[in-house]
Amino acid sequence: MSWAGRAWAYCDAMRVLAGLDGALLDPEAPLLRADDLAATRGDGVFETVLVVDGKPRELGPHLDRLARSAAMLDLPAPDPSAWERCVKAVISAWRGGREMALKLVYTRGPEFGDGTPTAYGMGLPIGAGALRARVEGVSALTLERGFAPEHAGRSPWLLLGAKTLSYAVNMAALRYAERQGADEVVFLASDGSVLEGPTSTVVVANGRTLRTPPPSIGILPGTTQGALFRAAERAGWTTKVERLRPDDIRGADGLFLVSSVRKVTFVHTLDGTPLPNLEPRRALHAELSDLYESEYRT
Ligand code: PLP
Repeated sequence: MSWAGRAWAYCDAMRVLAGLDGALLDPEAPLLRADDLAATRGDGVFETVLVVDGKPRELGPHLDRLARSAAMLDLPAPDPSAWERCVKAVISAWRGGREMALKLVYTRGPEFGDGTPTAYGMGLPIGAGALRARVEGVSALTLERGFAPEHAGRSPWLLLGAKTLSYAVNMAALRYAERQGADEVVFLASDGSVLEGPTSTVVVANGRTLRTPPPSIGILPGTTQGALFRAAERAGWTTKVERLRPDDIRGADGLFLVSSVRKVTFVHTLDGTPLPNLEPRRALHAELSDLYESEYRT
């Protein structure tokens, strides 16, 4: 079969799967062994890269973060050129919409195997919830995450700030929020420090200053936040990476949850209370979204 024919056969328009050798795999066929440590222990790391019009956004920072997470789990260092090959293969075979969420999955591999990690890239459509949130904004609940910022430095086994495949707690927090009528969560540390969302970075705007909490308190360094801050600095904004308190997010001109898939999303309601000045918030959201997009305009 020709390469194009094979690409079509292995692409159901909604999902594309490829290994690190760049070979396409059937997204309908089983891939993991039952004893893969990702399945039995959530023992692995991942990344989700936004691809727009065939171009992956922030691929370098995503691969750097994959390497950082892998090092925290004592996994073999990922080979960037192999991951780039995999990314290229998925993008070339994609027949879905303009945008794709590209998941890079790297696990410790089968428990009773030869120690070879499992690795693949999977292209998926963007979920309807994320598309809606980008436009309409979200309501969020602050929830305790159950650790103090100091744990990040002194308890490396907690893997704080690693993007591990153990996201059950993050998903449980989102379900809890949903039961309370909220769309999203802002995690707080036990001392009240603002951390991050279950799948997003917190950014606040005050005047022409953007602020986000530091990764040193046990959160992920966000690639979207990085891109937004670069664009904002070019446009004359001041950016700061510093600790935030609940009052900082409540009292800000704008509160945002940013991530690769949702891009820049504004929070309109916090802990059941609508945040004031909705229209100026919307305008700020439009401005920051435009700044973020400007990072990728050529
Ligand atoms: N924090 C957490 C816990 C996440 O899971 C994510 C992304 O999924 C982010 C922050 C945002 O990271 P990025 O902007 O690189 O997608």
